Amino acid sequence: MRRMSFLFSFLQVISFTILAQVPSPPSVNNNFQKLTSYTELSNYIELLGKQPGLLKVEIIGHSVKGRNLYALKFSSSVFGQDTSKIKVLIFAQQHGNEQSGKEGALLLARELLKPENRYLFNNIDFVLVPQLNPDGSEVNKRRNANGADLNRNHLILTEPETIALHRLFDRFLFEATMDVHEYSPFGGEWRKYGYRKNSDENIGTNTNLDVADGIRKLQDNDYLPFIFNYLHDRNFSSFTYCPGGPPEIDYIRHSTFDINDGRQSFGIQGTFSFIQEGMNGRDDSIENLQRRAEGQMTGMRGLLEYVYTNKVKVKTLVSGERKKLASSASGQEISIQSVHAANGQSLKIPLFSYFSQKDSLVTVKDYRPVVKSVSAVREPLGYLIPKDCAELLDWALRQSFVEIPLKRISDKKFIQYNITFIDSADFEGEKVVDPRYTINIRKGLPTDTGFIFIPTSQLKGKMLVLALEPKSMLGLATYEKYAHLLQAGKPYPVLRVEKK
Ligand SMILES: [Zn+2]
Repeated sequence: MRRMSFLFSFLQVISFTILAQVPSPPSVNNNFQKLTSYTELSNYIELLGKQPGLLKVEIIGHSVKGRNLYALKFSSSVFGQDTSKIKVLIFAQQHGNEQSGKEGALLLARELLKPENRYLFNNIDFVLVPQLNPDGSEVNKRRNANGADLNRNHLILTEPETIALHRLFDRFLFEATMDVHEYSPFGGEWRKYGYRKNSDENIGTNTNLDVADGIRKLQDNDYLPFIFNYLHDRNFSSFTYCPGGPPEIDYIRHSTFDINDGRQSFGIQGTFSFIQEGMNGRDDSIENLQRRAEGQMTGMRGLLEYVYTNKVKVKTLVSGERKKLASSASGQEISIQSVHAANGQSLKIPLFSYFSQKDSLVTVKDYRPVVKSVSAVREPLGYLIPKDCAELLDWALRQSFVEIPLKRISDKKFIQYNITFIDSADFEGEKVVDPRYTINIRKGLPTDTGFIFIPTSQLKGKMLVLALEPKSMLGLATYEKYAHLLQAGKPYPVLRVEKK
């Protein structure tokens, strides 16, 4: 009898060991003394893919230089099939020199395959893209091999890496997303100022005014307090993502509101989407790599824990907002020019003092936490894009906009913008093209069929308005590639179709 029970527990130990044996990521095997190369990452992902059960590895595209872009799909059933689950996407290392996102993502992959974390997948289908910019990573550079900043490419979508990510999103319509980065606090200006930022993690929510109000409120009022506590309980410091400064030299704002990045390009589609930034090493070094990777992993894990617990709340909110986006009834105001504004509040920000070598709270007087609209348009029924403008058509195709047959709108009024003068406006020190125009209102469609019609009643409806209104400070015409759309003395080639 004694022998039997000994044998039994011995078998238990063996089976537990087998179950718990998830291979360690390269960074762990290297004692965090070396960055994980693309080859090591590929081999590790292949190894994980052989683990039975949860994980399926998919190649979602290729980088400029042909390297694989991996998606790790975790699901306890068939991915995306059980619609009661919440779908989450986390992607890291759009910027190749921000290495801890990738290292943290690989740590997370190992964690998620441990039996004790399996409960998460009762509620979640999860995709992890550990490395969106392998070409940049290999040479430790921010940009991809075409010299493009991928995190400014989510609107024009010209790069294979961002196109692959958005194809993935379009396929599954994830309800929650997170874009993982690093910030560098070690700049010379801050050094001169005597302090620097020192949080392990900074968390950013959606700040664009056209992202659904309900989503922004839940992020700011519920998620942020949760994640700050979650990180604190695990010994990582965190703060709201607030670029700018140093205080009293430059103002501090609450993030950018452009929709061309990995957070707000999904937020504008009614997604509970975030940016997380871990602290970089000095001069992009591997300094502190273990803590940096673990901090990033803990923040990512925190998002999974939050949506696991708040699945119904987030799913209900997102599906409600997405229904509004898809309905043609809204006709609401869409802000196309905004600024950061103060609201009388001051900010107490924890900064590391170069002098005392300690963290202290610094009060920021020039603090602009509010985004304020300075110009808005009413949402139209949609836009007519001329078929002879190949790069606009290609763009619409890359963004996978829904198109509607022209005959359904043949009785509508449309507006043609005649560009009279191209001015530029100064938005917080940045010069943005600011055209003046007169408008012609016409009834009935142009008789030729030289246009396609893209309606605003779709998931990307607000993105469409922000991209195509000629005065939009976030619009296509602000990009060099599309600057020719605005020419003084000529009509703007895109026509605006009115609701009535
Ligand atoms: Zn970055």
